[in-house]
Amino acid sequence: MIDIQRSPNSKINDINFDSLVFGQVFTDHMMECDYKDGEWQTPKIKPYGPLSLEPSARVFHYGQAVFEGMKAYKDKDEKIWLFRPDQNFERINKSSKRLAIPEFPKEYFFNALEELLKIDKDWIKQGFGNSLYIRPFVIATEAGVSASAAREYKFMIICSPAQAYYSGEVRVKFSEKFSRAADGGVGFAKAAGNYGAQFYPTNLAKEEGFQQIIWTDANTHDYLEEAGTMNIFFRIGDKLVTAPTNDRILDGVTRKSVLTLAEEFNIETEVRRVSVNEIVEAAEKGELKEMFGSGTATVINPIAGFGHKDQKFELPKIEDSYAKFFKDKLMKIQYNEAEDKFGWRYEVKQ
Ligand SMILES: *Cc1c(COP(=O)(O)O)cnc(C)c1O
Repeated sequence: MIDIQRSPNSKINDINFDSLVFGQVFTDHMMECDYKDGEWQTPKIKPYGPLSLEPSARVFHYGQAVFEGMKAYKDKDEKIWLFRPDQNFERINKSSKRLAIPEFPKEYFFNALEELLKIDKDWIKQGFGNSLYIRPFVIATEAGVSASAAREYKFMIICSPAQAYYSGEVRVKFSEKFSRAADGGVGFAKAAGNYGAQFYPTNLAKEEGFQQIIWTDANTHDYLEEAGTMNIFFRIGDKLVTAPTNDRILDGVTRKSVLTLAEEFNIETEVRRVSVNEIVEAAEKGELKEMFGSGTATVINPIAGFGHKDQKFELPKIEDSYAKFFKDKLMKIQYNEAEDKFGWRYEVKQ
């Protein structure tokens, strides 16, 4: 059961779908489900609009907030698809658990998400690269500033139409001082505070002319862990290397899909710690052919160069790049243009 309140008029005709800025425009409806008296209440779909919360709501003071990022795609027959949504569902509950937020029921998540997508389906545009970015999130809404887990929450889903966008050449800085996560911390969770804490170091890197930071391990800063808000891959020779997931590294859906595809296409892969020295040496010897980030928003984001201490390195521009290969393979599966060998596509039945 879902309570549905439809918006009396749609904003869709006011939107220019050819010049979307990522995450700025939202669809006509949103999903809202409250947790109180020890249980999740009936999910509601209602017109997208502002919330009214007590200024003392716990989320504003103690950052009890987690989120997800996923996308819906429309194929040539107007069918709507999600990509491995079970992974996002499981991950938001894993994140919630770490933040002492009650887990959300699976049938609520899927029923409400699918209903929302059907109601706002005109916002999902056909065309390779067009998608609807889906942002589920949970916040602690209970009023009162005592520092303890809230007893009231809101689980919400909002949606934003997105185009394929080219972010320009990305150059990254290896972090020498700042860390995004520590052992025993919340790095594996999509906890809101992880992102708030990244902006300052990222701004410092931007002042030096880089677009992103490559996070290194908090203890030694000797190992490369994540690329901004993406997982990171290195191509040394023809070998693909990425760090193993742990307390500090987010278990990305794109990352694990790349690893599965690499195996399918016989690309030699190593999942192990990757040291800064190894990458600097490989770059010096000309063996470092590629670096790229992986994540739902851009799928695969190639990295053009990196900075380490006072040195700067440029990566070669290669024809048969793994970045292009994996991006194309993944997108074709997402848009129902290629065989789905691993059962990753999920149809939103209309
Ligand atoms: C969301 C996220 C990723 C990518 O995860 P996907 O499931 O591939 O979108 C990687 N690293 C961090 C820190 C993230 O927040």
